[in-house]
Amino acid sequence: MADKNLSESLSGNSAGILPFVIDAGPGRKAAIRGRLAKMDHVVNTILGRHNYPQVMGKLAAESVVLASCLASTMSYDGIFTLQAKGDGAIKTLLADVTTDGAVRAYMGYDEHQDIDADDGGMGAPAPMMQLMGTGHLAFTVDQGKKGRYQGIVPIEAQSITDVALRYFRDSEQIDTALMLAADYHDGSWRATGLLLQRIPETGGNHDDVLPMSDTEEDIWHTACTLMSTLERTEMLDHTIPVETLVHRLFHELSARPLPWRPLRDQCRCSSTRAEQIIASLTDEEKIDLADENNKLVMSCEFCKSEWVWDAVPNA
Ligand SMILES: [Zn+2]
Repeated sequence: MADKNLSESLSGNSAGILPFVIDAGPGRKAAIRGRLAKMDHVVNTILGRHNYPQVMGKLAAESVVLASCLASTMSYDGIFTLQAKGDGAIKTLLADVTTDGAVRAYMGYDEHQDIDADDGGMGAPAPMMQLMGTGHLAFTVDQGKKGRYQGIVPIEAQSITDVALRYFRDSEQIDTALMLAADYHDGSWRATGLLLQRIPETGGNHDDVLPMSDTEEDIWHTACTLMSTLERTEMLDHTIPVETLVHRLFHELSARPLPWRPLRDQCRCSSTRAEQIIASLTDEEKIDLADENNKLVMSCEFCKSEWVWDAVPNA
């Protein structure tokens, strides 16, 4: 157990992911990849900027954790985006994470629509379908010039965990187990996620996923059974270091922790980009968009940064 990891994950100000692997046997390559995300600090800062009703905040928190877990499985540099659209009280849900650990999130909702949804209590999953209605959840991997990949799944399960699991089962055909827990407790948010994925062994044709050997099949089922013993209260207990949690759950499978990956609350908007947008407008457009005080106001939905210009300088 690395002391640095232990102290980082114990200090309340750190958030991040502990990746780990479970091998298929001595000297054999890894059969399962695991991610334990402890996101209390990041989620607390992000949600602190917005005034979402608690049950909605819980869904946003779960989304941030899920996006962070999935982003950490990308093998190239890029941006991972989780986006959901619906026709319920929440219209848009967005969380994106860069490979170097910058996380941001935002939710667009109708303040006037009644929310007839209960948050289910400590750590219980947020009722995604109730909050978002009919819609879809999309995962996008953007690797810049190297390309962009998107997968979409309809919101046809109660929780974001179940919607995501359907996606992995039906579209990616990757055995996946996922647990998300978030809660607002004593004035702050806590959010934890655990993801297990069978590492696909590809055949000669790289689209062919080979069937698992009996040993791998056994290991996968054992790992899932062990994971199902995890309590949500245990996930949200910030006095339990992440390594201890992984060790407690998977020591009989000799899970190997990898270096801790810190995550931080950081938006990708910039005043330079805002300036460029304003600079591209004609004087007429600026006057049209200006408020009654002749000011042009631009703000970032994610981090609430605001920029203000005179629509007509020296007017
Ligand atoms: Zn921003």
